[in-house]
Amino acid sequence: MTTYLCKACGTQYPPSDEPPAACPICEDPRQYIPHDEGQRWLTFEELLGSHEADIHDDHGLLGIGCTPSFAIGQRALLVKSSAGNVLWDCMPYLDDEISERIGAEGGVAAIAISHPHYYSTMVEWAHTFGCPVYLHEAERKWVLRPDPAVRFWEGETHELGGGLTLIRCGGHYEGGQVLHWRERRALLSGDIVQVIPDRRYVTFMYSYPNMIPLPISKVQHIADALAPFEFDTIYGAWFDRFIEADGSNIVRRSAERYIRAVTEPGLRS
Ligand SMILES: [Zn+2]
Ligand SMILES: [Zn+2]
Repeated sequence: MTTYLCKACGTQYPPSDEPPAACPICEDPRQYIPHDEGQRWLTFEELLGSHEADIHDDHGLLGIGCTPSFAIGQRALLVKSSAGNVLWDCMPYLDDEISERIGAEGGVAAIAISHPHYYSTMVEWAHTFGCPVYLHEAERKWVLRPDPAVRFWEGETHELGGGLTLIRCGGHYEGGQVLHWRERRALLSGDIVQVIPDRRYVTFMYSYPNMIPLPISKVQHIADALAPFEFDTIYGAWFDRFIEADGSNIVRRSAERYIRAVTEPGLRS
């Protein structure tokens, strides 16, 4: 037996002899099945044999990705808090180089992942580091490789200790969560709050690849959920998707701009 991963989204499925019949993550309108290749699979061993670890500093945090880019291409971040190390978000590739490097940094006390597109091989990571994975209850049905390490929380916020708070923003996914780090005045946002190229704004979408917007009420809800939290920096989902300053105001301004754009034709700014 082996485990199969979807090539388009990087989701790992339970051990099996044959690939799964379908990938529900990619069949959902927020992701896609590539029109040229169709649904494709590879084994975890094939992933390890064809990629390498990419571990480097990402604006003051240790970023962990792989090269060449695989599936959605997000990187994970190691958050070294006073209450222990938290791995924020997850990515499919995990080899000895990564586990040794993270071990040298003190291991991982907990994993938290913004939304199902990045669940990827979270169970491999949880088993490697002997730690739980914190997800929002609203995304239970998207855990396609169930495991006792996965723990669901309910409500709007969840404290991890060390000044780390998971905030349920919703939007892109109903249980979409971000991580606020009080001591660093940082927001780790996955693509629940998307850092865009000009770094002066962020955005919020139901589907990024398929360009399906969110209704005004959901964008307002994200802004309201983040309003009580102060932060300067915002770390998006990929290496170098980083906002250096004024993060709280940028989120507020961006929600206002989004709402104006869909209510006032001819928006200029
Ligand atoms: Zn998929
Ligand atoms: Zn996503």
